[in-house]
Amino acid sequence: MKLYNTKSRKVEEFIPNNNDSVKMYTCGPTVYHYAHIGNLRCYIMEDVLEKTLNYLGYNVTRCMNITDVGHLSSDSDTGEDKMLKGAKREHKTVLEIAKMYTEAFFEDLKKLNIKKPEIIAPATDHIDEYIKVITKLLEKGYAYKSNGNIYFDITKLDDYYTLTNHKEDEMVVGARSDVLEDAGKKNQGDFVLWFTKSKFEDQELKWDSPWGLGYPGWHIECSCISMKYLGEYLDIHCGGVDNIFPHHTNEIVQSEGYLGHKWCNYWFHVEHLNDETGKMSKSKGEFLTVSLLESKGYNPLIYRLFCLQSHYRKQLVFSYLGLDNTQNTYNKLKNKINSLKENSNGEIDKTIIEEYQNKFKQALENDLNTSSALTILFDVLKLDTTNKTKLYLIEDFDKVLSLDLLKDDQINSELLEYINKKIEERKLAKENKDYTLADTIREELESKSIYIKDTREGTTFEVRK
Ligand code: AMP
Ligand code: ZN
Repeated sequence: MKLYNTKSRKVEEFIPNNNDSVKMYTCGPTVYHYAHIGNLRCYIMEDVLEKTLNYLGYNVTRCMNITDVGHLSSDSDTGEDKMLKGAKREHKTVLEIAKMYTEAFFEDLKKLNIKKPEIIAPATDHIDEYIKVITKLLEKGYAYKSNGNIYFDITKLDDYYTLTNHKEDEMVVGARSDVLEDAGKKNQGDFVLWFTKSKFEDQELKWDSPWGLGYPGWHIECSCISMKYLGEYLDIHCGGVDNIFPHHTNEIVQSEGYLGHKWCNYWFHVEHLNDETGKMSKSKGEFLTVSLLESKGYNPLIYRLFCLQSHYRKQLVFSYLGLDNTQNTYNKLKNKINSLKENSNGEIDKTIIEEYQNKFKQALENDLNTSSALTILFDVLKLDTTNKTKLYLIEDFDKVLSLDLLKDDQINSELLEYINKKIEERKLAKENKDYTLADTIREELESKSIYIKDTREGTTFEVRK
């Protein structure tokens, strides 16, 4: 398989350390709020990567952390602690916030058919690991103590900026003039491994350490969790592009400083999803979550398909118009598949199966080209072969695509609630003689394959897929 490696800045042949077994690490969510659909784009594409590796015959062990401590608003050592911010906002404890949003995150994964990584590791469960690694980094001279905090000294390495080719000055942590620099640092780019002098006196979670009561920095969490569960040699590390610097850059120097050898070979980064105004946000504008999409009548898998239609290394702009187009594509796809299912006799043509499985593989092996893989799926529908052969291939491709292509459609409670709300709004519009609005509502429903009928008993509906 060929994959773009952020580290070499090239598309490379993916060769795991250990033949057919792959060790994969994914930066998990910071559980201070719901995940927005941008965060989830990242997890969808990582899921496709894992399933593709499985499809190609690799055995994948995947680990993901849950960041429930240490992630400050700026991604470096400045700004407010995100978890504390969430707890204050909702008048709850940090642990309550973490539990609630971790569960919400898992719900989102389920709705989007994202397989939960085999190993899920909350950051707060691994304090001993951080202490062990930081102690060794201090012994080896990579870290130093200053003003009560433990810092990593980036000048101890030949090349700190391994993942970026930016000019050093532009990349320095906290180099913005409006950020008050920590006077305890030897170099501007040094970052905190362990805080005891917290800027937040009300920090709820603190642990004993050889350096006093405190808490870990965000970056050390991922290094330690990855090394604990996946060992000294990692094949592939994933995240969104915003993680490249400083988070992943810092993970590399911590892990390699500790281990004394190269740690991870491939770095996989998913480009951002933006909204029409620009960067996706959890605090400004419409907070785009999976639940919000559901409340507007969209099956979450439409969003999954929306993501698969474009390449993971391209920025993607979210719009409802775009999602409606994807909805139409999905409906057509399901319609065709349903009619194949109604008449699924005939023999399986093994030659065609092999040919199209190879085409599907080739698309994915080409730096995870999911839109080409979808084209192969549409090609299969147009083939002159038996329905049984087509259904076999569709089922096979869906192991990676995970779009419930063969599943019978059911109306879930969210969709039912949405339809009833729309019917009610239309009734009101008609009572107010606002027929334009009534028609708009009917059209909106029809765009989602929901057809309404006015009868003497009231309005009924039918979902035609
Ligand atoms: P966080 O919960 O902030 O730690 O982010 C979780 C994951 O989502 C990280 O891997 C981020 O890099 C990724 N991410 C954040 N914003 C976006 C976005 N707009 N589009 C895609 N991925 C994102
Ligand atoms: Zn991480």
